[in-house]
Amino acid sequence: MADSLGGLSDVMHLVHTPDDAYRKANTSKCHICLQAKPLTEEHVPPKSAYNDCNGLWECLVTHGPKLSPRTVKIRGGFRVPTLCADCNNRVCAPYASEYVRFVRHLVETPVLFDQSGEARVVSVRQNTLFIAKEIATMILAIEHLKFCEVHDELRNFVLDKGALVTMPFDILAFLVPKSPESGTISPFAGSGRVDTFAPGFGFLGGEISWHPFGFVYAATIGPRYRPDKMTNVNAWFSQRPSRTPGSVRLFCRVTGVESMNCALGAERTRPQIDRLL
Ligand SMILES: [Zn+2]
Repeated sequence: MADSLGGLSDVMHLVHTPDDAYRKANTSKCHICLQAKPLTEEHVPPKSAYNDCNGLWECLVTHGPKLSPRTVKIRGGFRVPTLCADCNNRVCAPYASEYVRFVRHLVETPVLFDQSGEARVVSVRQNTLFIAKEIATMILAIEHLKFCEVHDELRNFVLDKGALVTMPFDILAFLVPKSPESGTISPFAGSGRVDTFAPGFGFLGGEISWHPFGFVYAATIGPRYRPDKMTNVNAWFSQRPSRTPGSVRLFCRVTGVESMNCALGAERTRPQIDRLL
């Protein structure tokens, strides 16, 4: 998919280089309930959503002001130590279960394409509000605690299983193929891009994608990322779920906005995370 984002390497990046104090602050409280409790590891996406394997990932590491890619081995699926046991095992468990049912359904159902032949029409029999709450949980889990502290509406949306929310960003979904280079975790802080030298590549947001489903959460997204080939699912967050099965039209792409690694010129051969949390 790097081809379709040609020109991305000309983008000016708003790079944030985390120090030890920043990292320590990130794990001082649960990212959902903001209580200073012992934290447990949260799989992003849930472990049963095909995120349970050992694998090599590319991540960016900082040496003073310099950034360089490094290959790291991640065992047993990608996860972050940012949720307390109560939020992880009680509050968010039903959302994770629904999300797992959804992504397994994506893999197991027959492929149907729309009239353009590019997008797949997927039936959605699951509770879209709970899928949305799992998406919100994943965003809060990978973002810095400071982000979670200012987004009360997102945390309350997760903590109250009946709550609806008008999302402060666009949630843009797509299908992710099963291929060795699939997988992108790109938090909001550190992935900002200014399109001064590459018109159309401005971006303020993040991405979580993993076969078979991915999404970008964007406050700003330039047309060169082809957001028209992603599907806005904000209604899943703001509306009661339908009692009858619906359908959604999803395009297939390896990544939505690419990781910083690739944007800085590295070729994508593995899953990518912008930096270790
Ligand atoms: Zn908690």
